[in-house]
Amino acid sequence: MIITRPAYDAMLAHARAAMPDEACGFLAGRDHVTHFLPLDNAADMPRTQFESSPRSTLAAYRRMRELNLELLAVYHSHPTSPPAPSETDKERHNLPGVLCVIVSPLTDAVAAWDMEQGREVTIQIECP
Ligand SMILES: [Zn+2]
Repeated sequence: MIITRPAYDAMLAHARAAMPDEACGFLAGRDHVTHFLPLDNAADMPRTQFESSPRSTLAAYRRMRELNLELLAVYHSHPTSPPAPSETDKERHNLPGVLCVIVSPLTDAVAAWDMEQGREVTIQIECP
């Protein structure tokens, strides 16, 4: 997965700002990630779960349509654990062709996962 430096930094800043709660958002672009779209976490227990609010999700889809961008990855943070998918993450990520990106704001570790193949994907940060 290729991501531009501004989109990567914005995602990390969002994850740090949400601590101790989990944060979530969309990573969008055409062939590589150029845009970070934050979502509101409306989960009942936001410290250990994420559930994007319908309102912020709709706004993000609208923005992607306006800018003619594709959803390439869904990101969320793990405030206290490494950036590996939990069992819940595996069950709930059901968007074919869309990567699962996890950020650990404590260590700034970031990992991208192809959930269909069950493997980690290399992240390459591109300077625009
Ligand atoms: Zn998770």
